[in-house]
Amino acid sequence: PAAPVDPFRQGWLKGVYDEKPVKEVHTRFPPEPNGYLHIGHAKAITVNFGFAKSHSGICNLRFDDTNPTKEEEVYFTAIKDMVQWLGFEPHKITHSSDEFDKLYELAEELIKREKAYVCHCSPDEVKKGRGKLENGEHGPRSACAHWSRSVDENMELFRQMRDGGYNPGEAVLRMKQYLATKPEEYEVSEEDSAEAKKAKEKLKALANNPAMWDVAAYRVTKNNHHHRTGDKWRIYPTYEFTHCICDALEDISHSLCTVEFETLRPAYNWLLDALDMKIEGSDEKGPMQREYGRLNVEGTILSKRRIAMLVEGTTINNTPNNPASALADDIEELTLAEDGEEEPETTPSAANAATTSTPIRTIPPAVMSWDDPRLFTLVALRRRGVPPGALKKFVLDLGVTKANANTATHTLDSNIRTYLERTVPRLMLVLDPIKVTLTNLPDGYLEEREVPFDPKDKEKGTHIVPFTKTIYIDRDDFREEDDPDFFRLAPGKSVGLMNVEFPVRCTSFTKDPETGKVNAIEAEYGKDVPAGKARIHWVAESPAHHSPIRAEVRVFNPLFRSQTPNSLDWKNGGYYDDLNPESLVTYSDAMVECGLEYVRKNAPWPKEEGEAKGVVDKSSVRFQGLRTAFFALDKDSSDGKVVLNRIVSLKEDTGK
Ligand code: ATP
Ligand code: MG
Ligand code: MG
Repeated sequence: PAAPVDPFRQGWLKGVYDEKPVKEVHTRFPPEPNGYLHIGHAKAITVNFGFAKSHSGICNLRFDDTNPTKEEEVYFTAIKDMVQWLGFEPHKITHSSDEFDKLYELAEELIKREKAYVCHCSPDEVKKGRGKLENGEHGPRSACAHWSRSVDENMELFRQMRDGGYNPGEAVLRMKQYLATKPEEYEVSEEDSAEAKKAKEKLKALANNPAMWDVAAYRVTKNNHHHRTGDKWRIYPTYEFTHCICDALEDISHSLCTVEFETLRPAYNWLLDALDMKIEGSDEKGPMQREYGRLNVEGTILSKRRIAMLVEGTTINNTPNNPASALADDIEELTLAEDGEEEPETTPSAANAATTSTPIRTIPPAVMSWDDPRLFTLVALRRRGVPPGALKKFVLDLGVTKANANTATHTLDSNIRTYLERTVPRLMLVLDPIKVTLTNLPDGYLEEREVPFDPKDKEKGTHIVPFTKTIYIDRDDFREEDDPDFFRLAPGKSVGLMNVEFPVRCTSFTKDPETGKVNAIEAEYGKDVPAGKARIHWVAESPAHHSPIRAEVRVFNPLFRSQTPNSLDWKNGGYYDDLNPESLVTYSDAMVECGLEYVRKNAPWPKEEGEAKGVVDKSSVRFQGLRTAFFALDKDSSDGKVVLNRIVSLKEDTGK
């Protein structure tokens, strides 16, 4: 047979390697520790770690922690966990903040090289200088008065920034890129040589790139207490200043990021060139940035801010933002793609409580937590029971190219279903049990059936399923009135039972007088009972060690009725009206056959890469409930209580 195809040496990734075929591939996954990772990040993790691994290289996990206001310990821990859960081992765990001293030194160096200046413009003045017009377009640009300051003056002012001489928004260190470049400088004329023309084209492209309009390198922050460096710093470096330098300091060979950073690539190279950390126009020395397409999943919400609204609830108010905070926010916005960032919709209620605003609508939380299985954060997908291998396979099957990979939650679900089909053991589980007494069997009747965990895979072995006089079947498999199109149990009708020889036929049933629901069925079992047209699943009451296990089962459905919840009205809380009232359906009296104990003891089964290395969570107890769905143990389970989550249905849209 042909050697298995290594997805990290195909297509776009092959091209990236061929551009820079170094012996030691060094990559990094650089999350900002300001939130939980989502399904999109599974792509970034898989690409960075997988590419390095495929070339016997190494990949660092770098916390890009330059934004003290937004960082919390829980995110560091959760991010580390998710990388391991996906089966990857970081070569080193680093922090951008490890390099704060070095970064500061390099900022002074940049000033010395006349490539940075301290600017006091207001956000509006900055925008104006960048040529931003009312209609959002860009007109002519101009450098401000601060641009031409001397090295000495810049140095002194920058040190004042460092030493607390300025409030947020009062001073920013800006890189001296191409803001001051005039169109005359790149206007091609007849007399220009071919070489000069080329140089002018290059200059024109740089001068017209907003990422080159003297973006901020350092700013004074509002809340400057940092998770790791405490109160040492009052100024913090921006993404644009930090990322490329940290890549270089960590000796990263291939710096892989998502396509929205493509327009920032010239700025990435500009700074490294300016500091002699790269050879101009060459990727040979220093890191090489290349961009792959994002993974977008439609049908759910991935934005941190929106998930926060779902988790915490929100207060919609009509009070404009506090001007002071708006100013500082603007300075932060200025750093990255000026127009690209999401607008704040509204503030999660917890944060809002502190400000003085007039609430016009208070919206309660829509989900339990950040790991609510209805969400598509990685913690939520894990809790739901999705195997990490299924996520990696999903990412790679979509392909790694420059194009964004657009997909939908139901496509992900169908991939997970296919992945689980042959990997997890099978058990019988009854969601909503009705007791069936097999009246023609003697009291104490017991057949111990030896049943395979997967009929198509003998390797998985077998377990004992007891069959007795009292069994339970699913309410869905019984009808009070028969119908010729119905092939399961009904008065006078027979149906087969999975894993036993003979069928059963219903002879009578009773209803609970209070609820009007069927509460007991009587039936006959045996070789004389006419055959049924289908086989149903069941569990049997039996001697203690084989008795079925009671469970609470949580069935998850889409959180929103809309297939495109991102297009709902998030600003005014309209999203809340589109919530699916059936997004969580709980069966509190479900029953699972006793084989669950064995599955639980042997979990993770089968062993996923990360799980095999000891990263075991309750959710690694997974099985297929015959004719029902795939399930996993929820973290709310304890010794005395079993809570199961539906991972995915067996078929699309079974409604179960
Ligand atoms: P978001 O804004 O979606 O919450 P982010 O971009 O702020 O995410 P980071 O922590 O900065 O998240 O991301 C770490 C890495 O993951 C970056 O290299 C980023 O490009 C990558 N990444 C983020 N979202 C996606 C996505 N949807 N698909 C692929 N890679 C992604
Ligand atoms: Mg980010
Ligand atoms: Mg982002």
